[in-house]
Amino acid sequence: MGKLFNELKQDLLYQHGMNACLNCGVCTAVCPAAEFSEYSPREVMNICYSEDDEQIEELLKSDKIWYCGQCFSCKTRCPRGNSTASVILALRRLSVRYGYFAESEKGRQQLFAKRVFGENILKRGYTLLAENITPAHFPELGENWEYYYEHREEMRAWWDVPMNLENSPGSHRVIPEKDMEELRAIYQATGAIELMDAVEKGMEKKLGSKAEVEKYWQNWLETADSRNYQLKENK
Ligand code: SF4
Ligand code: SF4
Repeated sequence: MGKLFNELKQDLLYQHGMNACLNCGVCTAVCPAAEFSEYSPREVMNICYSEDDEQIEELLKSDKIWYCGQCFSCKTRCPRGNSTASVILALRRLSVRYGYFAESEKGRQQLFAKRVFGENILKRGYTLLAENITPAHFPELGENWEYYYEHREEMRAWWDVPMNLENSPGSHRVIPEKDMEELRAIYQATGAIELMDAVEKGMEKKLGSKAEVEKYWQNWLETADSRNYQLKENK
């Protein structure tokens, strides 16, 4: 048992999610993410259960921990009452804290989560702002969203909602500043701000400079596919 496992087992989400695993595979059988990607909740639980830092580090650097969609189907079916979903959250936290997330393509997408959703909530009190949800970046939202996105100005005029996006939360109500202060204080106290900073630092370490992180970001804005950025190995 090493440093990583020690830290993992202190995480309340890990304690909540891991009782004892009998390696039955029921979680993988019901997992929608396992159906469509190289991911198995049984494997994740197995690795954690091994308490082996080498295997845990490899897992934290892989795409695997980013496939879970947090549907909690595994939790309801596990004969031991485990919740892989919660264990996954603890693993993601550890991966970001140590900068391991930047080693995988799915992990590096944390930069988008941080800049699009994380920064929005600190600025406006909402994670989602319609302007950021472009159909090119979120094709899974389908044709209805595409229609709304294209006609959003017209539709907002019908609904009479604010359009000055720099100074308002878009089509949502304005959150009073005292509530925003409270929200930011919660993010600070729970370590969320620290994790958001760790995402920027981890990306900078992996890509070599702040300028390169910006290049990566611009590439995603322009092409909607993080794989288009040519990663230079051994950075
Ligand atoms: S269903 Fe529960 S006991 Fe079975 S492999 Fe998954 S986590 Fe382990
Ligand atoms: S919560 Fe994650 S691991 Fe569990 S079934 Fe859903 S996608 Fe799979």
